[in-house]
Amino acid sequence: MNSDVYEVYAVKYGHHARRAADNFVGGDPHDAPMPLDYYVWVVRNAVRTFIVDTGFNADAARTRGRILVHGVADGLATLGITPGGVEDVILTHLHYDHAGNVALFGNARFHLQDREMAFATGRCMCHTLLSHGYDADDVTRIVYRVFDRRVEFHDGSACLAPGLEVHHVGGHTAGLQAVRVMTRRGWVVLASDASHFYAHMEEGRAFPVLYALGELLEGYQRLRALAASPRHVIPGHDPLVLQYYPAPRPELAGWVARLDVEPALRAGV
Ligand SMILES: [Zn+2]
Ligand SMILES: [Zn+2]
Repeated sequence: MNSDVYEVYAVKYGHHARRAADNFVGGDPHDAPMPLDYYVWVVRNAVRTFIVDTGFNADAARTRGRILVHGVADGLATLGITPGGVEDVILTHLHYDHAGNVALFGNARFHLQDREMAFATGRCMCHTLLSHGYDADDVTRIVYRVFDRRVEFHDGSACLAPGLEVHHVGGHTAGLQAVRVMTRRGWVVLASDASHFYAHMEEGRAFPVLYALGELLEGYQRLRALAASPRHVIPGHDPLVLQYYPAPRPELAGWVARLDVEPALRAGV
């Protein structure tokens, strides 16, 4: 296999039932169920494996009323990956549902934007509206990893390996980074919370957990510019991802989806 072309997987681990009105600034006229799925992502080829985000942990699921459907380690095991053997983890940002299982990856180097660390440890955390998405234990654990020389900081755009890049996309938090991956269908972009659902980037709407609205809206254009086409952008929490993309094996349907192949339905066009 070409070492700068990757397979990409979404691995669902959590679920949260909520109404559409709760997913958009300004609400939604169709107040129908619009649940969130929670994912970690795997980027790999024969030479290297990167995990994107670590998911929330059982404590956070309990205190925040989220459902842990599959353990993150169980999901990675379906792809033959053991967390302790992972060398590189990209943290798109430090919200509890993305940085809650850093302890699982005891031997990894963590890739993080400068601005995300400054945001999550600075004065903005004095505001409940901004701190609510963070768990102080998760943030503290990353601070310890800094002192262990286990964090590699990035400022804006960076190439982590041939065919694998991170790009700062502001708005949701101050330092979120999206992940751009070369696949056999071209550049795929893992948006993470730069667009929770397809509906956010397609309709120019905003999820209510927000740092800067202008940057969030500009970010949708950035995601599209980084991807080979709009259907190459993968939103961070949309259950449609598991409908559009095939499972690598039939028994993993509804759990793991392969994102480096064409979606079965036309998404985002
Ligand atoms: Zn978030
Ligand atoms: Zn999230």
